[in-house]
Amino acid sequence: MSGTLLEPTEATGSPSVLVRTRNIGIVAHIDSGKTTITERMLKLAGKIRQLGEVHDGEATMDFLKEEQERGITIGSAATHFLWGDASINLIDTPGHVDFTAEVERSLRVLDGAVLAIDSVAGTQAQSETVNRQMNKYSVPRLAFINKMDRVGADFSRAVDSLRKRLRLNALPIQIPVGEGPEFHGLVDLIDMTQVTFPERTDDPADFTCGPIEGDYVEVACAARAKLLDALSMHSDELMELLLEDTEPTHDQVVQVLRHATIHENFVPVLMGSALRNRGVPALLDAVVTYLPSPIDRGAAQGVDPRTEEPIAFEPSPLAEPGAMVFKTVHFPTGDLTFVRVYSGTLEAGKGFYNPRLRRHERIGRIFLVHASSREAIETAEAGQIVAVMGIKQSATGDSLCSKQSPIVYGATTFANPVISQAIEPRSSVDRDRLGELLGIIAREDPTFQVHTDQETGQTIISGMGELHLEVVVHRLRDEFKLAVLTGKPRVSYRQTLRKKASFETRHIKQTGGSGQYAVAKISFEPIDGEDVEVTDTITGGKITREYLEAIAKGIREYATSGGRRGAKIQGFRATIVDGKMHDVDSSAIAFYACGVQSARSAEELCGTVVLEPIMRVVVTTPEEYLGTVIGDLNSRMGIVEQITDEGLAKQVEGRVPLRTLPAYATTLRSITSGRGEYSMEPDGYQPVPAELVEGLDG
Ligand code: GDP
Repeated sequence: MSGTLLEPTEATGSPSVLVRTRNIGIVAHIDSGKTTITERMLKLAGKIRQLGEVHDGEATMDFLKEEQERGITIGSAATHFLWGDASINLIDTPGHVDFTAEVERSLRVLDGAVLAIDSVAGTQAQSETVNRQMNKYSVPRLAFINKMDRVGADFSRAVDSLRKRLRLNALPIQIPVGEGPEFHGLVDLIDMTQVTFPERTDDPADFTCGPIEGDYVEVACAARAKLLDALSMHSDELMELLLEDTEPTHDQVVQVLRHATIHENFVPVLMGSALRNRGVPALLDAVVTYLPSPIDRGAAQGVDPRTEEPIAFEPSPLAEPGAMVFKTVHFPTGDLTFVRVYSGTLEAGKGFYNPRLRRHERIGRIFLVHASSREAIETAEAGQIVAVMGIKQSATGDSLCSKQSPIVYGATTFANPVISQAIEPRSSVDRDRLGELLGIIAREDPTFQVHTDQETGQTIISGMGELHLEVVVHRLRDEFKLAVLTGKPRVSYRQTLRKKASFETRHIKQTGGSGQYAVAKISFEPIDGEDVEVTDTITGGKITREYLEAIAKGIREYATSGGRRGAKIQGFRATIVDGKMHDVDSSAIAFYACGVQSARSAEELCGTVVLEPIMRVVVTTPEEYLGTVIGDLNSRMGIVEQITDEGLAKQVEGRVPLRTLPAYATTLRSITSGRGEYSMEPDGYQPVPAELVEGLDG
């Protein structure tokens, strides 16, 4: 059944392996079976002999200890394997919404994805989130309705939810023979053949292929007619054939389907039971047949950092080199950096230019990575996803290229951290080590940040949710063996300036010893967005460049430190319009202090609006608890925006201030007798109610 690989239509007969390369990810709501599907794919491809089942925590993809403990996939592990003559790079993506940044950076570098759906639950909260992300990065996809063996499996309802809830033009290219415990085969609507799985064995190689049996002939013909009808919207040729009542050939159907899928006009739906080894070979065939190769995806767009002009290099091994770092994993022996090569060839032992750092990074070794082992290779060509060792400073989103022809790929955008927590080592001798380890984690994870509170001197970590920070603390303890103490998680408030103000700040101390002298007139005004801009209109050297930069540093640091209320000040412009220097007593330090002082005055004179992070919360609950769930969200000052049916359950969607949501998981569990589920993601900021601002000041 494997290996029916059709040459991509867009490929121009290049002998390169590129046309046979697929960079894919499996994305889904947690527990839909991503890890199991991945394991089955690797087993089929002959990579691993023994399957580690997820529930006993041995899954080979979950190689970080943290993941094994929790039985969830937090880190994206990349794996390479062969299927027929196709070379597949598979990125495992996490399902928990606190880790969506991981999903985003995988999607950025993938060419196609498999959206896995639980046949009983249908599309769930997080399937919507990941689907939105796939739209954002224009990722062509297949849908795989998994767990067809479960009691309550309903294939048509799952397809319906893809169409209605996710608004995908999704139609089956297979139909199931039996559902739930009766699931014992599937009909391929392209070949019009039936695959039958034997009753009592789960051996992946043990299935028979034959003609469609009994009543299924009629059902399959109707489903195929529907499929062809939908596809004809995307091909004049197919439409003409159908109008003439001519049966299109197998290749004709495949080509139209492939073209429509690659151009995101269509989502083919397949099904199976990963746990019971059913349907996975056909899924792999479909990945190769319908999802795009790097050539189909075309040249990756970037920007020339010298001119800011758009630029793109062909996805060919002979083109200028262009690669993007999408993940860094720290190992005691050195960081393992995952890169997607978009063009040209990376060579072990050579230096590549990082335009952001304006320096070369030497690639020591290149690896094709399997879940728990690595295979050293000498070169990595356009289209490949590999891990390299030797890179010291490049971080997620950075480009590696040549200095003569630099290219910067649009960096992945990540949401701002919304929750923070004080952290300190249990023993003060570990202070430096804690700083170093937090630095490592921040480099691996762009949504995790570390800073020092200016006033208290405490180390503050910030992230995307309580679970996110909890995972960091666990890693410190288990992986790095460092005992730490943490404060209560706190919501990260923000402030913006209320109105414009222009005034002079004098930082003058000329009594005894070396003096300090800095005077600057600065105009502060609110602007849209989250940036802090510092500019000047100084001419004639009234204040030197060095001192202007010192003022800017002072303003920015005061804003970041959070000022009087401890909430980062953002969304303003400071224009230095005038100032004075003193021949002897002026210094960078004096102007820095002048900058800090001016920002402090701006906070008072302009006044500030305190903003709080709002979360988009999606709760799925059996109908009997609907009223309680809504009542609880209302009591948390949430606004319920939508209530929809989700299979037999109800889904409530709304916006809720993060500050009212601590330990929401526990409450939801108790008010729904453990049957409610939720997901949440940051959804912007909103002014804090006045009475709460007073509380903050206190
Ligand atoms: P992930 O969170 O999406 O990676 O999902 P997992 O692969 O960890 O699977 C979640 C649970 O569903 C595990 O207990 C699996 O054994 C189980 N599971 C996965 N696939 C199937 C399937 O096809 N049928 C059934 N009945 N259970 C499955």
